[in-house]
Amino acid sequence: MRLLLRSTLLVALVAATATVSAQQPRPVTALVGGTLIDGHGGAPLTNSVILMEGERITAIGQVGTLAVPRSATVVSTEGMFVLPGLWDMHVHLMLAGHGNYAHWDAKYPPLLEHMIIPAVARQNLMAGVTSVRDLGGPLDPLIHTRDRINRGELPGPTVYTSGPFIQHAPYAGTEAFRWGVNGPDDARAKVRRLAEAKVDVIKLIDQDEMTMDEVRAVVDEAHKYKLPVVAHAHRPEEIRRGLAAGVDDFEHTGLATASEYPADIIEGLRARAAQGNKPPLFWTPTIDVLTNFDVRRDDLEFLDDPIWHLGLADSVVKDIRSSLDRLDTLTYYRFVPNRKPTLGNKFRQLRESGVRLLIGTDAGVPANFHGAAAISEMITWVRSYGMDPMETIRAATFWPAVAMNVEKDNGTVSVGKFADIIAVRGNPLRDIGVLRNVDVVVKHGKRVK
Ligand SMILES: [Zn+2]
Repeated sequence: MRLLLRSTLLVALVAATATVSAQQPRPVTALVGGTLIDGHGGAPLTNSVILMEGERITAIGQVGTLAVPRSATVVSTEGMFVLPGLWDMHVHLMLAGHGNYAHWDAKYPPLLEHMIIPAVARQNLMAGVTSVRDLGGPLDPLIHTRDRINRGELPGPTVYTSGPFIQHAPYAGTEAFRWGVNGPDDARAKVRRLAEAKVDVIKLIDQDEMTMDEVRAVVDEAHKYKLPVVAHAHRPEEIRRGLAAGVDDFEHTGLATASEYPADIIEGLRARAAQGNKPPLFWTPTIDVLTNFDVRRDDLEFLDDPIWHLGLADSVVKDIRSSLDRLDTLTYYRFVPNRKPTLGNKFRQLRESGVRLLIGTDAGVPANFHGAAAISEMITWVRSYGMDPMETIRAATFWPAVAMNVEKDNGTVSVGKFADIIAVRGNPLRDIGVLRNVDVVVKHGKRVK
């Protein structure tokens, strides 16, 4: 009896819901008038019309040929260029730019989940960065924040996270977000724990301190769970081992003082790129943080820009600000004077080797604020290293989605994909710097700016 009643009720409920959705189609939003750079690399589409229903793009056309439903909410993009939401493929949401890691790691763990991570996530979103890949931080706060954003409880970009770094041994005081491995079985077990906790990617560092069996175990186990492996490339032996084990993506430009990558490494990258049956080998150089360190050190006004205060308590802002009074003394940047003259060489070598470069920033490290960092990286690629602006935009939109295996849903402005869209006054193909001031940000069909 009770069962029967329940199922009758359920049928009635389902019927009621069906009627409601038949009578009330989901609200349509239309972005109308701007020039669309859709992320595929083709010619921009002038006078564009983009229709969105729920979280997704339902139609793309031009004013005069694609009708805007009368019921639609219209957002004018007249005078603007419209692009896919940007990605930052290397952020640390556990960090907010503070100059002293030992102090930060001792004091801020209790505030990470409920203040720091949501705050810096939102800073990214408001800058037009609608997806971030977090590469190294404490597991639970990152997973919880990612899921709260996905459920719509917090404003933020779509977060892909690795949780803790996998490495030979954690540095003292960093055990909460660095997991050491001891033998191949332990390496597999650690990766399994992360996979079962639902991370999106595995971050491998210091692999030149591991045994080759351990490195292979990490990569093989991650691939069993279809998780990409992202590895540091600070030292030549890290790159050699990563290549041999089959990592999917390298990070940083590395090699503190060498003027270029050794020939055998470039050969290895070329050979990997020539394997047509595999997706590209990705590389996130995070080069602006080094290239423009001296500009930041000598021109401190950006430290007083309230843009990086969003969501942070005054006391935290004050603490971060006072830690950055003397940028020239920060240990994080101690190699920069030696490294800077070599960066152009290495960037060129990487481009020529056939690896696929991605926009990523190390946002959160000292004086490198979230959101602004991704735009600075793009500007530096174009202005300092001669990268084509369209290629740069694709390195921040289309290719990141491919690298994270979500290109069916993300990475371009295309019918059927999530509506992650930004609009900006000025043509970023002529002046990439216009991206510093994004006027409109739409995440999953909802306008957030
Ligand atoms: Zn990093």
